[in-house]
Amino acid sequence: MPKRRGAYQPPYSKHSFLVHGKFLTSKWDFEHHVVPPISSSSTYRLESAQRGASGFCGYVDPQARARRRGEIFIYDRLDEPTRAMLEERLAFVEEGERCVTFATGMAAIAAALGVVLRSGDEVVAHHALYGCTYSLLTTWMPRMGIRARYVDFTDPRRLERAIGRRTRAVLFETPVNPTLEVIDIAAVAGICRRRGVISIVDNTFATPFCQRPLSLGADMVVHSLTKNICGFGTDMGGAVVTRRQFEGDLLLYRKDFGGVLSPKNAWPILVYGLPSLELRMRKEEQNALEVARFLEGHPKVARVVYPGLESFPQRALARRQMTDFDGTFAPSNMIYFVVKGGEPAASRLVNHCARHAYTITLAVSLGQIRTLIEMPTAMTHSALPAGARRAGHLDPGGVRLSVGIEDAGDLIHDLREALQTC
Ligand code: PLP
Repeated sequence: MPKRRGAYQPPYSKHSFLVHGKFLTSKWDFEHHVVPPISSSSTYRLESAQRGASGFCGYVDPQARARRRGEIFIYDRLDEPTRAMLEERLAFVEEGERCVTFATGMAAIAAALGVVLRSGDEVVAHHALYGCTYSLLTTWMPRMGIRARYVDFTDPRRLERAIGRRTRAVLFETPVNPTLEVIDIAAVAGICRRRGVISIVDNTFATPFCQRPLSLGADMVVHSLTKNICGFGTDMGGAVVTRRQFEGDLLLYRKDFGGVLSPKNAWPILVYGLPSLELRMRKEEQNALEVARFLEGHPKVARVVYPGLESFPQRALARRQMTDFDGTFAPSNMIYFVVKGGEPAASRLVNHCARHAYTITLAVSLGQIRTLIEMPTAMTHSALPAGARRAGHLDPGGVRLSVGIEDAGDLIHDLREALQTC
């Protein structure tokens, strides 16, 4: 009778034990961890060929998954436990049925579009989009026979007119990166439902703490987890949260295109990012309001856009749509402002911050505990051609500020000094 695996005993050498350890150990029990463990195993031991076959056949078949007892993990690129725990929590907080995570936000956006669109289809997007999303739509999608069109979603009637026979999906950010215009999710989702089009909302700027688009009727939410959900600037990640019906295709897409979130990146988001989301966002919002008010009163600033300001042009919509878990207005932490003197003045301001500011760092990305500043037309949105920038209301003198958790007075001090150079 063959020996049961897992028992270390002679004639195996200590060296083999160091390679294999014990196969069965009482040290592996998720229920008894206070902190979720990192499971870092690129492949999984299968105790029988039948279990392997059942894992493969049930991978994208939700009914087969529901029938079997417990998960069958096969290979990291298919599914793995640390990432799965993060997905459960993200689906819950976004009020969706399922979440599938990806290596980055861009991988998540590509997957959401990839499972919905076919050659010959068309996607309609809002004029202003994160530069790489714009590049995905204009550089790569046409190679797959998919056309992108751009309209102003702040007027949903224009979107209604733009939807044509071939339109299969609409994609937008709200608040929009970097202009912070707000798009009426319920209105857009209503149009999409009537016209049989899938609505995809990039909720990166708001996070589920400030806005939950699925509860307003959207079909899919995409995230760059790299930003406020991770929160500390340590890890990249992306997610699609949606209805159960899209889960199989998203898993298949992720398996075959391979843009999986590493469990080593999922773990900090699960252990540090999500649990501290509310605390960080509340502090960042308080700071953002103080900083936005300061900027609004500064003679060298032409315009400040922050959904929390009284002067925000779409204030009623923002108040209705952007609410925290308690239903309180939650305008998030991003500010867009335009300095008098245009691009050269903005450049001087940002360079002054880079060289002299203690609390403000010149860097792309956003949603970290540290305050970051950048110039979108020169950096994050440089992929947008001049016409798209104009249509999207991006100003060459525009500056994007991602407000962190520092002392608000210190942030204002550093900005005041930098504005003297404008
Ligand atoms: N969506 C928005 C609104 C972004 O700002 C970004 C990145 O800045 C992305 C998506 C892409 O995310 P990632 O860098 O994680 O791929």
